[in-house]
Amino acid sequence: MVRTVMRVGTALALSCVLLLVTAATGRAFGSVRPVPGPVVRGFDPPADDWLPGHRGVDLAAEVGSVVRAADSGVVGVAHTIAGRGVVAILHGELRTTYEPVTPTVRAGQSVSAGDVIGTVQTGHCAAGCLHFGLKRGEEYLDPLDEVTAVRLLPASAVALAAKLAAQRRAVLAAGGFEASGSGVLLNPVGGPITGPYGLRFHPIFHEWRMHEGVDLRASCGTPIRAAADGVVVSVSYDSSGGHRLVIAHAGGLTTHYLHALRRYGVHEGERVEQGQVVGLVGSTGWSTGCHLHLTTKLNGRLVDPAGLL
Ligand SMILES: [Zn+2]
Ligand SMILES: [Zn+2]
Repeated sequence: MVRTVMRVGTALALSCVLLLVTAATGRAFGSVRPVPGPVVRGFDPPADDWLPGHRGVDLAAEVGSVVRAADSGVVGVAHTIAGRGVVAILHGELRTTYEPVTPTVRAGQSVSAGDVIGTVQTGHCAAGCLHFGLKRGEEYLDPLDEVTAVRLLPASAVALAAKLAAQRRAVLAAGGFEASGSGVLLNPVGGPITGPYGLRFHPIFHEWRMHEGVDLRASCGTPIRAAADGVVVSVSYDSSGGHRLVIAHAGGLTTHYLHALRRYGVHEGERVEQGQVVGLVGSTGWSTGCHLHLTTKLNGRLVDPAGLL
């Protein structure tokens, strides 16, 4: 039994993974979504083979829920190593991988699209998820491009997203914060929320993506105020967030401000007071117009800022 090169996520790919859209397979592939949950982490292959990356997509799934074959094929791998199970199915030139999964199928077994192949194990995402990968030869492909059923979000996923949001609110409550509208934080720009936290159909990328914060309406040059007393953790610039600022507050809470007009007027280690002006609203990074993107994390985990404002 060939058991090599199936360690998706850590495998050493022999060919360079390109961000080019690969040739269509000639027919619709993947009529079944392995688990009903939404994509919570997208495909993000490394620029070079030896660098870390994400060679598949993560679909939200409760631990213990069933995993189904995305299309018909033959089980190539079904095993558990160090407690972590992997199933791979061969579909002609394509191969789908599912992990971490407790297999209920055997290598060599034929499966039809939709057949149960195992159950989701804990370990890949904090809240539970299935890592779903797709390869053609040694090349990792984006399941969102190639697998019909992954592209479409089923109605059941909406209910699951609501359940996950409820879990996040519980985490919030455990941290001593109210579930919604608590006023723990000052609205940094005073404007209404124009882009809510959570899954949204991305206007540029045309797929479901997680919006890890809220967008607050504000015109260019509006002062950005610290949402609460705290200490500046970092002041940086990157191509997606533009000018980015992170402030740490009491209770394990951090606030993250994106897209400022220019470098923030505070420095790392500086103590700031709630309401203090720290920068000006801009549109740097991946932004289609002036606004403030505000992310909040509680003990390192994303929480909906709307519950804190
Ligand atoms: Zn993953
Ligand atoms: Zn945003």
